[in-house]
Amino acid sequence: MFIIDPILWEDDRNGNPRYCHIASIILFCIDSITNTGHNFFLRPFLRGAPRLGGVRGVNPLQSTRPDMKLSTTYDVAVIGGGPAGMMAAGRAAACGARVILLEKNGVLGKKLLLTGGGRCNLTNATFDRNVFLSKFHGASKFLHSPLASFGIQDTLDFFAGLGVPTKTEEENRVFPKNDKAESILEALRHYMADGDVTVVTDAEVDGLKRVDGAIDGIRLKDGKTICARSYILTTGGRSHPQTGSTGDGFGWLQELGHTILEPRPSLVPVRIRESWALTLSGLGFTDAKLTVLQDGKRHSDARGKILFTHFGLSGPLVLNMSRTIGELMKNGTVTVSVDLLPTIDISTLDLELRTMFETSKNKSVIHGLEGIVPYSCLKVILELSGIKAEKPVHDITREERQSIAKALKGLQMTVEGLLDADKAIVTSGGVTPKEVDFKHMRSRLHPNLYLAGDILDIDRPSGGYSLQLCWTTGYVAGTSAAGRSNRT
Ligand SMILES: Cc1cc2nc3c(=O)[nH]c(=O)nc-3n(C[C@H](O)[C@H](O)[C@H](O)COP(=O)(O)OP(=O)(O)OC[C@H]3O[C@@H](n4cnc5c(N)ncnc54)[C@H](O)[C@@H]3O)c2cc1C
Repeated sequence: MFIIDPILWEDDRNGNPRYCHIASIILFCIDSITNTGHNFFLRPFLRGAPRLGGVRGVNPLQSTRPDMKLSTTYDVAVIGGGPAGMMAAGRAAACGARVILLEKNGVLGKKLLLTGGGRCNLTNATFDRNVFLSKFHGASKFLHSPLASFGIQDTLDFFAGLGVPTKTEEENRVFPKNDKAESILEALRHYMADGDVTVVTDAEVDGLKRVDGAIDGIRLKDGKTICARSYILTTGGRSHPQTGSTGDGFGWLQELGHTILEPRPSLVPVRIRESWALTLSGLGFTDAKLTVLQDGKRHSDARGKILFTHFGLSGPLVLNMSRTIGELMKNGTVTVSVDLLPTIDISTLDLELRTMFETSKNKSVIHGLEGIVPYSCLKVILELSGIKAEKPVHDITREERQSIAKALKGLQMTVEGLLDADKAIVTSGGVTPKEVDFKHMRSRLHPNLYLAGDILDIDRPSGGYSLQLCWTTGYVAGTSAAGRSNRT
């Protein structure tokens, strides 16, 4: 049961109602007790209302439904309930704006829950801003200003403040202490609930309405229209489209005159031709060196974690080099060479193998090499070197020992291709940064349109950089969009 109070409905448009009409309070109590879900109608009246049952006005885990009335004008409307959208919505609300967030899925943060293998690598603890920005290549010049507003320490403090302590692992990767991406999602939901953000799930946006160069409304697929003073677009890129990131925002922005660089898989695993490589599926190396070659010539190399999979290679090192591999493939065949023991040079390794063999003369060679790399990998190394695993160590020739060392230092594989966008961690491409005022994350073409997260064409490596970009740009977009609505 609910009654709409016409006076408050009209008078409270600018957003800071610290008082509740008596009728609204009564209704809120009824709503809280019966949990009918009608609180959608009450939320605009209840901003700043005293908490009942610990949560202000609405159960943060319960979303409202699109079949409810959606004709109210909001200060800020956010499209996309991923990390960037949730941060932007929560921040705009914390700045005093009346905010609505629209998400086409039935739940928020589907992709967020997949991050870091379900553990959510939420940022990278590289506190020196210049060092952090050096990872963003050409886009770094755009990010100085937003990172100054909301940087890495701000992210750690923000989540700690929401009850999510973090820990830092190898390569400065930061995870929630409990290793659960859900806790990050939960924190963001609470952040939004604290600001009385109206969250509408199952609300698929069809496009944006424009009048006189400004955005005038959001068209929902079901025909409804949402109006706000400012709009924040956080519909993401095109990686893992099953999570909802189908690139819808790119089409709308193109219609609005923005330049969209064609999205393509960026951080993506690599398909390998050799069948022996696929037999190593599941095997990971924390410190390997990957060299990318074309026509036998070394193009680039780097060290880090790799993972053999049922299709080829993955892991942070491979993901980070996938863009280079993709670019080189346009010119012809690309091969990669994996050094499984990058900390020692080949002559030192040969010496070590000699010492190992001297102490295990009567063992089979596979047992003589035990411990150097995992057993399944040893089998492959011996096969590639043309040596039978059972051959006694005392029968191994110098040339055979050297070819074992060579294989350990350079497993050669032919790249068959990159996996498709649906397997990419990130797609590169999106709105060209030149068309965005990064100080406010505002479109340079439309004064009341703000952009954040993966929708922007910003290349970055794996390691928490993508989510930091969401927190930073989402925060700045939320602040600016709310500021704008406060001024007008
Ligand atoms: C498997 C995997 C693991 C990853 N791991 C990490 C990691 O550990 N660390 C890291 O930093 N990054 C990681 N990333 C990248 C990170 O997840 C993204 O950078 C981030 O999710 C982008 O956030 P976003 O809010 O911009 O967009 P998204 O998360 O893509 O969210 C966009 C939202 O908009 C909604 N939407 C789209 N169209 C519409 C529409 N028409 N109407 C309404 N709603 C719409 C979508 O349903 C979606 O919920 C990973 C990515 C993947 C795929």
